[in-house]
Amino acid sequence: MSGPDAADPSTPAPEKPPAKDVVIPQQPAIVAPRTFLEPARPIMPPTPLSAIDREQMEGLRSIRAFLKVRTSYDVLPLSYRLIMLDTALLVSKSLKILNQNGIVSAPLWDSKTSTFAGLLTTSDYINVIQYYWQNPDALAQVDQFRLDSLRDVEKAIGVMPIETVSIHPERPLYDACRKMLASRARRIPLVDIDDETRRHMVVSVITQYRILKFVAVNVKETQKLRKPLRELPDVGTYANLATATMETPVMDVIHMLVKKNISSVPILDKDGTVVNVFEAVDILTLIKEGAYDDLKLNVGEALLKRSEDFPGIYTCSVHDQLGTIYDTIRKSRVHRFIIVDEHRKLKGVLTLSDILDYTLLEGEVDE
Ligand code: AMP
Repeated sequence: MSGPDAADPSTPAPEKPPAKDVVIPQQPAIVAPRTFLEPARPIMPPTPLSAIDREQMEGLRSIRAFLKVRTSYDVLPLSYRLIMLDTALLVSKSLKILNQNGIVSAPLWDSKTSTFAGLLTTSDYINVIQYYWQNPDALAQVDQFRLDSLRDVEKAIGVMPIETVSIHPERPLYDACRKMLASRARRIPLVDIDDETRRHMVVSVITQYRILKFVAVNVKETQKLRKPLRELPDVGTYANLATATMETPVMDVIHMLVKKNISSVPILDKDGTVVNVFEAVDILTLIKEGAYDDLKLNVGEALLKRSEDFPGIYTCSVHDQLGTIYDTIRKSRVHRFIIVDEHRKLKGVLTLSDILDYTLLEGEVDE
């Protein structure tokens, strides 16, 4: 077979020029005249802090130093009570116990394994409510839920399991705060190990409020926190606020609390004036003893059921300083400040989580 391309083996192949390295022409570096003209960017010395900024940082450092040398034991009063609930208890009975004792959470104890089984909080009841709302025919079943089935309820409604964080009471208070911030928990159980039995020993539960009050009472440098909130735009929440009116159905507010993982919703009138605050703990009154009918109420009707000793709503303005906020925490049992303008129109929300976060983490390098 021959063809135009077939080489004749008898004819010597024409000599190939020696292979040369392929040289790709170098792209000339583009030098803009500007490159020569602009002086090298000078290294700017850090802007010196203003006196008020320096004082603010000193205040924060004093609080952090204090929290590092105190333990959770130091926060506990000399005498206190601790109500623990067995995981075999019916959810409806647990509600009755919380309401009767005027508390909103309790550590759980698994008596089968003699171990600490996490903290029961309003979020658990909200999960049961959501389950009931999705399965209204299952009321009889909801009635039979025991505390140890709460994890199944979480799975059934597809929410993330609530982390069961705890801390040894002898750890620095600072570590307890960091753990609370990392898990977004508003309270943390103190769990020790019994020397003899090596078993869990639940000592108490400390809350954000207790810690911040302890700081407010003992650290006079909180008075150095003189910057007004308007100069601390990252402290508190000012945008995308979840709000409701007196006419909003309670169930809508519950969905807001879950969706945003928040513990309260300001209630506004038609002009945007703050008239009340619906708190997650208000739900416990509504589902007292396991009846769910009151969930059909609207916010206005639900708030009428609030106990007489409701401490009221705390407001502040963007002109307030954290020093005065700490003063209020020292004097009153407050969990959040609704930030309003001079006409009581809603501006933002400043909660204990925000205050704790700023107090511990402002200016800190991520670990
Ligand atoms: P809390 O769980 O209430 O401490 O709030 C957790 C975070 O959500 C904080 O950063 C609050 O400023 C923010 N927050 C609280 N309430 C609301 C609300 N109604 N709307 C939007 N954000 C909120």
